[in-house]
Amino acid sequence: MILSDNHVHTSFSADSSTPMEAMVQRAIALHLPSICFTDHMDYGFPEQYQTEFLFSLEDYFHTIQSLKEKYPSIQIRTGVELGLKEDIFETISAVPKRRLFDFVIGSTHIVDNLDPYYEEYWENLGEENGISHYFEKTYDNIKLNFDIDSYGHLDYIIRYCPTMKKAKNKNMENESFYQETLKKNKEILDEILLSLIQLGKGLEVNTAGIRYGLGHPNPHETIIKRYKELGGTTITVGSDAHETKYLAYSFGQIPELLLKCGFHYCTEFCKRRPVQIPLT
Ligand SMILES: [Zn+2]
Ligand SMILES: [Zn+2]
Repeated sequence: MILSDNHVHTSFSADSSTPMEAMVQRAIALHLPSICFTDHMDYGFPEQYQTEFLFSLEDYFHTIQSLKEKYPSIQIRTGVELGLKEDIFETISAVPKRRLFDFVIGSTHIVDNLDPYYEEYWENLGEENGISHYFEKTYDNIKLNFDIDSYGHLDYIIRYCPTMKKAKNKNMENESFYQETLKKNKEILDEILLSLIQLGKGLEVNTAGIRYGLGHPNPHETIIKRYKELGGTTITVGSDAHETKYLAYSFGQIPELLLKCGFHYCTEFCKRRPVQIPLT
């Protein structure tokens, strides 16, 4: 079984230089049934990083339309990854109103006007607080009920915390730290999952965690299982590739991983409507 990739970046995102067409060609070579582009729209990205994660919707839809015509053998879908920030709810909410996307991912990239990718965030808060604070801000964002279909890379903060960064630099995993961190944050993670379920939002399984050396997708299987236990039904799958070589990264192991977590289907979105894809 080959899964579609529902989280893909291209040169429409400030942190990728991959042409959209190259991603389509790679998707065809991998025999993916479909590919959904989800380039970054991060309004209010802090000025200090001097990067603008915004693009022209007109160019984006136009480019995708011409690729659809050129490559009819694959379904090409139009999505977006919205960086969620509670202080500019209205600005962000306007994006999915401007065009009919197939799929909208919401992710928390910025907390307290800082990107936890950088050390400054950890210097201010420390490791334990830095992680729990991120989850609390995630919860605040989710409760606002942004117009999204699936929540992106829920626990990816773990990738960037000092302990995991150290392990990564030594090419090692640190499973006990990962497990401990999830245990310490169990209450807030449950609140997040319950909120997603109540609001009818999906949970994304993002294989960049595997690529990053965590030994797991983001979120960890513990969270995926818990989402199922609490009543969650909608799992979307994406690689978060910014380069063609990472498209559908480790997708071979995802059907079995999801089956082990209790899911027999994953979900893709077409014109914002869920389509169930059997995993067996
Ligand atoms: Zn993201
Ligand atoms: Zn992404």
